Order: sequence, then structure tokens, then C-alpha cells
Amino acid sequence: MYRKNAWEKYEDKKPIMDFAEGYKEFISIGKTERLVAKEAIAALEAKGFKKAEGLKGVKPGDKIYFVNKNKNVCAYVVGKKPLIEGLRILGAHIDSPRLDLKEHPIYEDKGFVLGDTHYYGGVKKYQWVTIPLALHGVICKKDGTVAEVSIGEDPADPVVGITDLLIHLAQDQLQKPGAKVIEGEGLDISLGSIPLKGAEKEPVKANILAILKEKYDVEEEDLISAEIEVTPAGPARDYGLDRSMVAGYGHDDRVCAYTSLQAILDIEDPEFTSCCILVDKEEIGSVGATGAQSLFFENTIAQLAAASGEKNPMLAARIIMENSKMLSSDVSAGFDPLYPQVNDPKNAAYFGQGLVFNKYTGRGGKGGSNDANPEYYAWIRKVMDEAEVNWQNAELGRVDQGGGGTIAYILGNYNMNVIDAGIPVHNMHAPMEIVSKVDVYEAYLGYKAFLLAK
Ligand code: MN
Ligand code: MN
Repeated sequence: MYRKNAWEKYEDKKPIMDFAEGYKEFISIGKTERLVAKEAIAALEAKGFKKAEGLKGVKPGDKIYFVNKNKNVCAYVVGKKPLIEGLRILGAHIDSPRLDLKEHPIYEDKGFVLGDTHYYGGVKKYQWVTIPLALHGVICKKDGTVAEVSIGEDPADPVVGITDLLIHLAQDQLQKPGAKVIEGEGLDISLGSIPLKGAEKEPVKANILAILKEKYDVEEEDLISAEIEVTPAGPARDYGLDRSMVAGYGHDDRVCAYTSLQAILDIEDPEFTSCCILVDKEEIGSVGATGAQSLFFENTIAQLAAASGEKNPMLAARIIMENSKMLSSDVSAGFDPLYPQVNDPKNAAYFGQGLVFNKYTGRGGKGGSNDANPEYYAWIRKVMDEAEVNWQNAELGRVDQGGGGTIAYILGNYNMNVIDAGIPVHNMHAPMEIVSKVDVYEAYLGYKAFLLAK
């Protein structure tokens, strides 16, 4: 099933198209890690997963999930084999590149009110101007209440956006290198232009604050403890005249999060305990309490070990991790015929050829990459071929062309076998990313085959 066009396998394309409908809805709602976590929890609950609270005992077939600070979800289906023999883990990240409002964001200039942002993750800044943007997030108040912000998705909502120079006056701007055409401090969003009647100073800002007060019962100072993410507005759409692809925001890495989640939702009574972990902060180095480097994951395993009767659950957690196998479910750079020069065509990911394995990522001599063991890769090939899953291999571009990372090496640090396995994407990190529906479907099948593999 290596390097074959997956579309040709299907006489009836309906299951692929139907699966993509569910995915489009998922990313259209899940514009932030919090919203994706919420959707994941709802899907898990609907399939009978129970939140792990005061976990007493676990038995084969139990479906359990843990949540970390509303941004990080970890689900398990307990297997027939003892936990100590290891888990089958799917791990994806649910944060995506975007712009975050600063702590003190709102200012008025010449009768115009703007919101100051700091971009999150790797973005080509010029891609974020002159497109409709939405605001999503939370404003946390001192009294402990939380206002949930969502502006720009309902067709009746206004949108916001970032201006760019008109071509007529862009002579100087267009001489700049791409990284400087739009600068970080130039990514401020337009919020309004009507002055509040009777306000003495900054009347337009006063009006915007009044709107926020009315809608969310918040003061300007409350924005200090807010987390407002500026994302592309609007739903994911079919792409291409044949509807073979999906255009949307946040395929990296919600496409792997969705497929991993759908895979574990289908699992009943596995041999080895199935696990799906959805993490935050990958785009900024997997740091912090909700990133892949957090002890949260290890702690959930220790809790399972304790509930299954292990005398030393922390040590057991370490051994369980060492005996585990993992797919680091993250997207790959899809070969783009407009830019062939950045890839080695023999080792590139192509749309339509299915699930992509990246033995290594990294930059400059595999720097910082996990570089999976060939013994493990051979086992993976067997699992994929036996399940008739279309798959391919890729490097992230030509040697010394650039590079990137995933969460693979972090889990590799626990001495488990890990390999990157995901879906090819065009326009990675742009406000509109593209994936092939058949690759999405093959990834789902591949993830499921992996969870069920002996
Ligand atoms: Mn990613
Ligand atoms: Mn990324």
C-alpha cells in the first residue's frame, strides 16, 4: 500500500466524503485549543468515556479521560493485557498558529480603535492582513467568573481584520524582504470607529469598551487576565472542483487530532490499552503546563497504574511508557507543484498517497529530531500493509532547506518507540491550509490499525 493513490482504492467515495464533513464541522467550531478540547470531551462522553475522578479500579474495556486546564485531553480505553506491557498512544497537538491579543491591547489613534497582538507560533505575517478575522477566548475576572468570547463566526457577527497599504502607496514597502513587508507590531486589528457621545478622552475606545462591557460584563483591566485569540473567521470549505480537498484554518494539527480522536472513539476491548493525547503549545515548543513536556501525561498513566493495583505507580508509569508504542500524529509538508525546489521528490509527501510517516524531522542535520528506530518502523510498515492503509514516507523538505519539529522527541525521552505519522498539508501555518480528504481518511484508518495492532 506504499505510494499508491488512495482514491483509486475506493469505488464508493462516500465514506471519505462523509468523514470529511464531520472533520469540517470539527475545525469550523474548534478555532482554539480550548474549543477543540471541549469538542473532544463531548465526543468522548457521547461514546461512553468517563472523566477520571477518584479513579478506584480499572478493568479491560473501561473508557476514561483526563482533562488538564481546559486545554489538554488524554483518553484511554483499557486493554486486556496488563498496563505494564505498554500502551498504544496517538498524540496530536490542538494549538495552531494565530495572533493573541496583548494584555493591554486596546488603543485609539486618530479616531480609530485597534487591538494590539503578539503572534503565536511560526507565521508569515503578510498572510494575515486583509482577511476576515474572528476573536475567540476567555476573559477571566477577579471574582472567578469567566466570560467566553466568540465574535466573527456567526454570519450575523461583525469580523475584524488587519489593514495593509494600498498598492498605490506601497513603493517602499514592496522593496522589503518578505519577512519585513508586514512586521510583528504591524499586526494590530481594527476594532471600531464610532465615538461614544459625551466621552471626553478617547471616545472611540470608550465606545468599544462599552460594547465589551455590555456583551461580556468586563472592564478594560479584565483584559489583563484574558486569552483572546485572533483566528481566521468562517467555516472550513470543500476545495477543488472535484471537492477532493478541505480548505480551512488549523489543519496543523487539528486534522491529526480529529483523526486520532475518531480512531480511539471506535475502539472496544483492545489488546493493549489505547491512548489518545491532545496537547497544547506545540507551536511554541511544547512548553508549559499544557504542552507535551508537561508532567500531566505521565501523571495520568501513574493514576491508571495506581488504580490497576500497582504498588509503586510512579515507577510503573515509567515502565509502562518505556514499553509503549506511539504515533506522533502531526502534519507533513505536502509536495507543492508550484514549489518543487524545496523537496527531495523521492522523500516528499504527496496529496492522495495517504498517511505520511516521517522517520525524522529536525533542521540542519536532523537537529532536534526523534529519528525513529528502524526496528519500530518495520513493525509499523507491517501493521499498515496488513490493514491495507495507504501510506508514504517523507522528510520535511530538502536537506538544509529549513525544517521543523513535533512532539515526537519529547515522548521519545521516555524511552518509548515513537514515529511521526500524519497528513500532508499545503500552505502550512497560513490562515487557509489545505488537506486531501482521502489522506484524512487513510490517517484515521491507519491510526485505528495502530491502536489495534498486536
Ligand atoms: Mn504540527
Ligand atoms: Mn505547526
